[in-house]
Amino acid sequence: MSTDERLTDPRRLAARPPADFCPVLDVERVRRDFPILRRTVHGRPLVYLDNAATTQKPRVVIDALVRFYEQHNANVHRGIHTLAEEATEAYEQARRRVAGLVGVDDPSRLVFTRNTTEALNLLAHAWAAPRLAPGDVILLTEMEHHSNLVPWQFVARRTGAELRFIPIDATGHLDLDSLDRLLTPRVRVLSLAHASNVLGTINPVARIAEQVRASAPQVRVFVDAAQSVPHMPVSFAALGCDALAFSGHKLYGPTGIGALVATSELLQECDPWLGGGEMIDTVTFTTSTYAPPPLRFEAGTPNVADAVGLAAAVEYLESFGMERVWQHTQCLSEYAWHRLAELPFMRVLGPGERGSRAALVTFADAEAHPHDLATLLDRDGVAIRAGHHCAMPLHERLGLPSSARASFGLYNSREEVDHLIESLLRARRFLGCHD
Ligand code: PMP
Repeated sequence: MSTDERLTDPRRLAARPPADFCPVLDVERVRRDFPILRRTVHGRPLVYLDNAATTQKPRVVIDALVRFYEQHNANVHRGIHTLAEEATEAYEQARRRVAGLVGVDDPSRLVFTRNTTEALNLLAHAWAAPRLAPGDVILLTEMEHHSNLVPWQFVARRTGAELRFIPIDATGHLDLDSLDRLLTPRVRVLSLAHASNVLGTINPVARIAEQVRASAPQVRVFVDAAQSVPHMPVSFAALGCDALAFSGHKLYGPTGIGALVATSELLQECDPWLGGGEMIDTVTFTTSTYAPPPLRFEAGTPNVADAVGLAAAVEYLESFGMERVWQHTQCLSEYAWHRLAELPFMRVLGPGERGSRAALVTFADAEAHPHDLATLLDRDGVAIRAGHHCAMPLHERLGLPSSARASFGLYNSREEVDHLIESLLRARRFLGCHD
């Protein structure tokens, strides 16, 4: 694309930063809640723009972990002593709190997992693998993270089902015109990202689920919400899906804890997956009966402390109001998209229209390698990500071996985006790239 074409490209014009520009949140105040943001990197203040990989943790989350271990630590569900009762109550209270984040009142519909990846694997192994047959179709999209692709490859290999993909168009949106053609009677599952971790595209899941219900009611709709739940109001019911997965560490909570939220019907249909303590009702030497969901899918001692930490993160996040959180990070990603798209040597991925993108911007420089850029930015204290972002097939589809990504959170400011751009330009000069 020539420079003229780039400047008149409607997508780029649409990306002009809004006049009522953010920050929506009081960033200085928010930053005081995050101890790590006080540190320096290579003698520079930390500019943390790798939030799509993992977010930093506020003091209230760290305190909740310490408090749990100092005051309430015990194993859950089986002890008849005070600490066991307190730990159980804290764990089940956390389940209610986290389910509430996606508007679900019934906590038995939330299974704690390690992360999004484990939640999607649970769906693949416990729901799909036992019931799919040769000739059945698993429908995915071209923009999936490996964690919503590889588990389905396992299922396809095990059952003889076939993988098919909703393509993306040139703007980084899903080509939904193809959906009618793809929704054949043999499709059993549609599993898709709510927000792409590379393109930033927010997919119209509710509209897609509605179309599925109307034309292919046999299809179960599963949603990878890893990049949406932390940044925008998400209602399970409004999405109209059967199951939804997200990770605690991407929403200011601890690592090692995530969630699968599903309809009660879907959880009833799932076979037990991991076997062991906690998930049983009765056991004989030869056979067992199982506890009802969600415990049926939580074999072994669960990650109690991190569930409690995640509940503290949800409470913290909700204290801002999810609508304001969404406006804040959306403004930042729009502003960054616009600043990057102005650079004639930069290919900026995904849609630029207002409201169409999640809290991240991915870009590829015509000359500088993303790893070189990320390394040089780190010398400036700026943390971004470079590589394929666990989306190798998407990068192949885009004709890129790798890309660089800046991603935003509650504590990022417009000045930090400016800092990113200045640092990028400095890095390019260092690498001897053309202007
Ligand atoms: N899906 C998407 C869209 C993601 O961005 C990520 C994390 N990069 C995952 C799934 C996997 O998340 P986790 O590693 O926490 O399981």
